[in-house]
Amino acid sequence: MKILVINSGSSSIKYQLFNMPSEEVICSGLVERIGLNNPKIKYKSQTEKIEKVCRISDHKTGLEKVVKFLLDEKVGVIKSTSEIGAVGHRVVHGGSTFSETVVINDVVKEKIKELFSLAPLHNPANYEGIIVAEEIFPEAKQVAVFDTAFHQTMPVEAYKYAIPNKFLDEYKIRRYGFHGTSHKYVAEQAIQYLGAENASKIVTIHLGGGCSMTAIKDGKSIDTSLGFGPVAGLIMGGRSGDIDQSIIFHLVNNLGYELNEVNNMLQKESGMVGLTDGLSDYRDIEAEAAAGDEKCQVALNMVAYRIKKYLGSYAAILNGLDAIVFTAGIGENSDVIRKLICENTDFLGIQLDEEKNDTRASEILEVQTATSKVKVLIIPTNEEVEIAKQSFELIN
Ligand code: AMP
Repeated sequence: MKILVINSGSSSIKYQLFNMPSEEVICSGLVERIGLNNPKIKYKSQTEKIEKVCRISDHKTGLEKVVKFLLDEKVGVIKSTSEIGAVGHRVVHGGSTFSETVVINDVVKEKIKELFSLAPLHNPANYEGIIVAEEIFPEAKQVAVFDTAFHQTMPVEAYKYAIPNKFLDEYKIRRYGFHGTSHKYVAEQAIQYLGAENASKIVTIHLGGGCSMTAIKDGKSIDTSLGFGPVAGLIMGGRSGDIDQSIIFHLVNNLGYELNEVNNMLQKESGMVGLTDGLSDYRDIEAEAAAGDEKCQVALNMVAYRIKKYLGSYAAILNGLDAIVFTAGIGENSDVIRKLICENTDFLGIQLDEEKNDTRASEILEVQTATSKVKVLIIPTNEEVEIAKQSFELIN
């Protein structure tokens, strides 16, 4: 069965077509700058690699252009849209409603709409992708895979905030957590690789544009560092991670900032961008730090320090550690950050082998010493294949 995976953002659509269950990638690509200047479509099959600038005013036009490539006589990979059995959609927020992947129907669509206020930047774009895919692939099953779903197993101690009960009961204010598809995928890979008995207590560390950590007991998420929204926890590219909320009130009540300005500052101008005066890519930050830039050195140390604090607290709630897993752009590629995090963690049973760590991962790698009690794994994440897998399993 062919399954198309769609990750629809506010101005982009990422797509990958899989043959399932073999997980073979038939083609993949991206429509970017939808509705902006110079929209572009990228298409890559096993034999072709094409980039084309064209007019793409909305998501429907974008997906139609993708389908044109898929069906093209010369470069295409299918003869008819009816060959696609299912379309798997990444949906960022499933609230407390969705703890599992679901086949999309009118009720599901209504619920995703109701969750717009919880994920105003993401859910409307994900919803748009669903509507457009339904029109273009009327015969395919549409499936929603939620970024929050994996974390729905968290116990109440982990998801509830210590604010009056009505805020949870009436307004559903609680920790939801995100990047669930990635945490689930790499945790399952780790369990398969190490065997369940050697991987019952795992901490997965997803370090990309967004960053989060998850404590995983027997394959289930029991706590995670992102919260109600996508700013809590670790220091990210442009997001601050944990701060003391009284800073917000001080800025607004005493220093004349507008709430919107503070929100923008915390979401876009903070994290590595704020600490390095403008850099967010770790390749640049590491190069500057190596050349002696003090702000970049401090920024990297702060990232590692915050992760180490979470690692300690997750080791405590798991009552031990079998494995830690690094994943996503930074986790898979930055030996520098992995080394800073694992320095002086032998109390937790973690000993990094620096030679093995000097690598970038395109497959599962073990980078601990022979005597390390805890396995240190680098596992490339693959949210698209996880969405295809879950879609395939659900409809079969
Ligand atoms: P992601 O969101 O998972 O695609 O991660 C993207 C981020 O990974 C980039 O912004 C970089 O900061 C980081 N990254 C990618 N390649 C490398 C590399 N070779 N070394 C360090 N960081 C990298």
